[in-house]
Amino acid sequence: MAKRRAQSQAARPSEAAPRPPSPAEHPNGAKASGDAPTPRVIHMDENRFPEVTHPAPMPKKRITDTTVHRASAYEVAQAQLAHVAELMDLDDDMFEYLRMPRRELIVHFPVVMDSGSIRMFTGFRVHHSTVLGPTKGGIRYHPSVTLDECRALAMWMSWKCALMNLPYGGAKGGVIVDPKELSQRELRALTRRYTTEISIFIGPDMDIPAPDVGTNAQIMAWIMDTYSMHKGYSVPAVVTGKPVGVGGTAGREYATGLGITYVIRATLRQKLGMELEDATVAIQGFGNVGSWAARAMHERGARVVAVSDVQGGIYNANGLDPRLVKRFAEESGTVVGYPGAEAITNEELLELDVDILVPAALEGQITHENASQVRARVIAEGANGPVTPEADQILQDKGVLIIPDILCNAGGVVVSYFEWVQDIQAFFWDEGEIRRLMERKLLDALEQVIMTTVRTGMDMRSAAYSIAIGRIVEAVKLRGIYP
Ligand code: NAD
Repeated sequence: MAKRRAQSQAARPSEAAPRPPSPAEHPNGAKASGDAPTPRVIHMDENRFPEVTHPAPMPKKRITDTTVHRASAYEVAQAQLAHVAELMDLDDDMFEYLRMPRRELIVHFPVVMDSGSIRMFTGFRVHHSTVLGPTKGGIRYHPSVTLDECRALAMWMSWKCALMNLPYGGAKGGVIVDPKELSQRELRALTRRYTTEISIFIGPDMDIPAPDVGTNAQIMAWIMDTYSMHKGYSVPAVVTGKPVGVGGTAGREYATGLGITYVIRATLRQKLGMELEDATVAIQGFGNVGSWAARAMHERGARVVAVSDVQGGIYNANGLDPRLVKRFAEESGTVVGYPGAEAITNEELLELDVDILVPAALEGQITHENASQVRARVIAEGANGPVTPEADQILQDKGVLIIPDILCNAGGVVVSYFEWVQDIQAFFWDEGEIRRLMERKLLDALEQVIMTTVRTGMDMRSAAYSIAIGRIVEAVKLRGIYP
């Protein structure tokens, strides 16, 4: 394996000098010709992965190292797949099959703004794998959404659903927009038009969206309503994460944050012989995932000493009360300025001396540049893809335990699955039942991951990936390749 990795490093793309995007290029980074891949680096936001060239000419060699240039989320996802494919000794044909998304849709659509002007938006929807069932994955509204990012997130969703034993493949979608800049009417109009544009791709038997960064239960209600209007009858199962009043499930809003807490608590006990109530916690990102994880951990006795959002962080060595911080953030629009805490930057938060660090914002936050400064004993990946493969290696060498995203934050998709099942059967369960079933699913998966680490000596991420990929490969082999 070391030899193959060395070969892959020799084949790494060379460092690309940052340059502004050319209007001649496609917004998703695609080029018209079949040129050799040239990473196109756009620094829209220094904290995010840059966008890269469409991977049309797929690299011949597996990419297992991405330190030479700042990798896109899709390159990271592929590097992770390549690493596990080697550990599993997956054959090359299956590797090629798994790393390509099944289908991708790009839409450019108009929205009439409050001013009366028309503004064009670009959106995406990607289905990665359809082997285990319909696809499932969030919709993101963010200024730096790209097709590459959707591909990566769709791939991670495939692994997550397979690890959780859900009858789904992975999908992801998004619109390039800062939702905070839109009025409610504009946001509704954008959502209805985007839903209409991607309606050929979604449906209860085909692809079921859910909330992600920048989207919420209200937006899911508009998606459900738009799809239903086109059908002529209500189709609640087309989307999950809806409000309870329109077919949503009890417990979905906090599911990801509570699920993270269940997984952390059990991992601490089993791997470190430590109790959650003895732990200090720092959380990057105070949106749906971060704020509910903070609250669930606080309620179970952990000391949450720092939280942050895009504007910065706050720290109090004696612990913060996440409920009060949330109330403050709802009123002021940010956690920054919360009384009784000192201001810190997002970078400082990642480097705090805490037991547990929960990155719960965006991808690519812990990289080869800052991994060696991380002092946490455990990193629990609340966000999808917050740690790059190089950072992963550095952290493992330091003895940091990483609970991988596809296990750690899977509570959201598990309860989304319960929502879909309840919508289809038109019979709803109570909140206690949903919590109990979610905890059981997460802890079953954790048990299998830990058993695999013990049996094979793999780290938790590789173990989780190998279980998930093994299930998809088995299904591919049982189904056969059509025709
Ligand atoms: P959200 O929009 O509710 O919150 C995102 C938070 O991150 C906000 O507090 C925002 O200010 C902060 N943030 C954004 N950019 C940042 C930056 N550069 N530095 C620091 N903070 C930043 O989104 P969410 O639903 O909480 O999702 C967060 C992450 O969790 C994403 O990676 C998402 O894919 C993943 N995830 C979400 C769910 C879910 O159920 N919502 C489930 C699984 C995984």
